[in-house]
Amino acid sequence: MHCHLDLYPRPHEVSQTCLQKNLYILSVTTTPSAWRGTKSLAGNNSRIRTALGLHPQVAHLRKNELEIFDELVSKTKYIGEVGLDGSKAFKPFWKDQLLVFRHILKTVNNSGGKIISIHSKGAAENVLAELRNTECLPILHWFTGSKKQLEKAIDMGCWFSVGPAMLKTKNGQSIVKKVPKSKILLETDGPFAKIGGAIIMPWNIDIAVTQLSETLNMPSTEVNSLISRNTKNLLWQNDRFNRSKK
Ligand code: MN
Repeated sequence: MHCHLDLYPRPHEVSQTCLQKNLYILSVTTTPSAWRGTKSLAGNNSRIRTALGLHPQVAHLRKNELEIFDELVSKTKYIGEVGLDGSKAFKPFWKDQLLVFRHILKTVNNSGGKIISIHSKGAAENVLAELRNTECLPILHWFTGSKKQLEKAIDMGCWFSVGPAMLKTKNGQSIVKKVPKSKILLETDGPFAKIGGAIIMPWNIDIAVTQLSETLNMPSTEVNSLISRNTKNLLWQNDRFNRSKK
């Protein structure tokens, strides 16, 4: 539910291999201008869905692309990667981040709700506050917030996409144990995330299944069916959402 296919060194080869392996991918983007090209990586295959995004770490550089965002928003049911980043390096651009994120949430609200893959590093509190008035299906990707913030997010009905890089940490494991099982989704966050020093590939998602199986004390086959059930449920809710809005 969160992979940057377009940012791999050989994106065409990577996406072709994903299609050969029958992987389902939510292919997120970091700028609105990247959406069309990234979508073309999927060809006509519906296993790869392309989300429209504007990453908080580039908000100050790409805020002028909000116009493109608005033009494209009706063409997809998926938004991401969007959000806020409160870490030291990006806090100086907080005003722009907030402007971009608020604009996106408002646009999403007006367009009838979407699945949104959200970055909340060092900004979980603010992200949750902004989400309060938005009709959408939020997925908190690689969540690292506090216990209290996690509880709030769970209360708000958020989904959580978790991957190998998160699940190898003690904190990541403790978070996923607290999340309702019906809200757990998988992600790699490749090529940003690494595993064993190497860039993670979409087909390495098996690692997350093994980790979840160990952390949740559940056979891998059950993890697989849980994830498949959760993902279908999320997509079904999104379709219903869009229908009821029309
Ligand atoms: Mn990402």
